[in-house]
Amino acid sequence: MAEIRFYTGDNFPLELHKVRIVQKLDLVPVERRAEAMAEAGYNTFLLKNKDIFLDMLTDSGVNAMSDRQLAAMMVADDSYAGSATFTRLSEKLEEIFGTKYFLPSHQGRAAENILAMTFVSKGSIIPMNYHFTTTKAHITRLGGSVEELVIDEGVKITSDHPFKGNFDLEKLDELFRCKGSSIPFVRIEAGTNLIGGQPLSLENIMAVADLTHKYGKLVVMDASLLQDNLYFIKTREEKAKDLSIRQITRMIADKMDIIYFSARKLGFARGGGIAVHDESLYLKMRELVPMFEGFLTYGGMSVREMEAMTVGLEETMDMDVISQGPLFIKYMTDELVKLGVPVVTPAGGLGCHLDASRFIPQVSQTEYPAGSLAAAVFIAGGLRGMERGTISEQREEDGSEHLASVELLRLALPRRVFTLSQVKYAVDRIKWLYDHRDLIGGLRFVEEPSSLRFFFGRLEPVSSWPEKLVKAFRDDFGDSL
Ligand SMILES: *Cc1c(COP(=O)(O)O)cnc(C)c1O
Repeated sequence: MAEIRFYTGDNFPLELHKVRIVQKLDLVPVERRAEAMAEAGYNTFLLKNKDIFLDMLTDSGVNAMSDRQLAAMMVADDSYAGSATFTRLSEKLEEIFGTKYFLPSHQGRAAENILAMTFVSKGSIIPMNYHFTTTKAHITRLGGSVEELVIDEGVKITSDHPFKGNFDLEKLDELFRCKGSSIPFVRIEAGTNLIGGQPLSLENIMAVADLTHKYGKLVVMDASLLQDNLYFIKTREEKAKDLSIRQITRMIADKMDIIYFSARKLGFARGGGIAVHDESLYLKMRELVPMFEGFLTYGGMSVREMEAMTVGLEETMDMDVISQGPLFIKYMTDELVKLGVPVVTPAGGLGCHLDASRFIPQVSQTEYPAGSLAAAVFIAGGLRGMERGTISEQREEDGSEHLASVELLRLALPRRVFTLSQVKYAVDRIKWLYDHRDLIGGLRFVEEPSSLRFFFGRLEPVSSWPEKLVKAFRDDFGDSL
């Protein structure tokens, strides 16, 4: 990928694709945005799309698809067993990862269910750089626990460490020495979702795999966000700069025992699965696929999605394709930094992350700063983000809050979906909100489910702060949207 420089010295990411299908968007007035937020119980998961302008909730299943992916969907081979589509997907995975066996699943968490049911039991400890919500839920459901071993820099909000997702190798070694017998596998999460899409270095991945194998344990990679991680390895790691994306991918995959992924992210389609080198590991997990997902040659996925995924995986090997996400995220992050808005640095993959703890320090963690900021950002601009803070945690067994180590509002940039002017609009509204941050207050639960509460929980503001925000917007913007 050659760098593109601008004659005027300006610097911004350039779209390396053209738009051939569009979806019309509506920007509803601020009063309606506030009303919609109240109807949704101040939980952005419960908003309706018709009220949303820029949906930055997630990159899951909403990345733009290519013309080639759509074309491939037309030749999908629909059959219950033995589909040629499955063979093509399985062969593509073997070509890219070198893995001989593939177990399809309907999405990433279904792969996690299969892994957990196969390897996790009461008392199991699963070391990982950082947890992901669904991963942890599957492990704890079976009586296991998660041990987070990310380097200290990983949870520092502002940093210039290029690989904040790295494992602390000493801590991993110590855990093996003290509790090795309880560890069935180590999980490496490429592009650590919950701490800002921060990558691991190739060097760290190799070292973790070597150490884990030294203790005779399995290495499992959650490759859902691998594509951004590949881009960061290529652009930030001196040793990798002359390697191709394909070579980097293969070096990583060769060291893994199991690679699982959500194809709602990796491969720009919808689905998931588990790729394995070793036949005995494959056989251990195999029977769970027809039991929970579907027959072995579709695993709950539509054949069209599998065809699209096969093409999407190939496109993931193209630097022009995978650079777009990180470059747009970097642009958004850098613009917000220039305006003084607190964000996670350096920019990672997945999206731009606002630091709610510094954005609204007046809101205490028990009144959910990240959740409050998510509601405020929606009211200010029709931007839907995702709370990644205390609401996303589970309460302790005694009912007390488990305060999150960071309070972030994630504004995901689904890949190749938004244009530069839409990103500029988002930056503008966030800056406006930052200048009115004193108006924002906290939230409290009115309905709180005991597990995965961030999906369905309903909250209310602790004061009339949303109305004050609407009034300030009207004062500043007049009749404008
Ligand atoms: C999204 C995601 C998952 C779960 O995948 P789904 O397809 O949403 O079930 C697991 N791990 C990571 C790192 C993810 O980002």
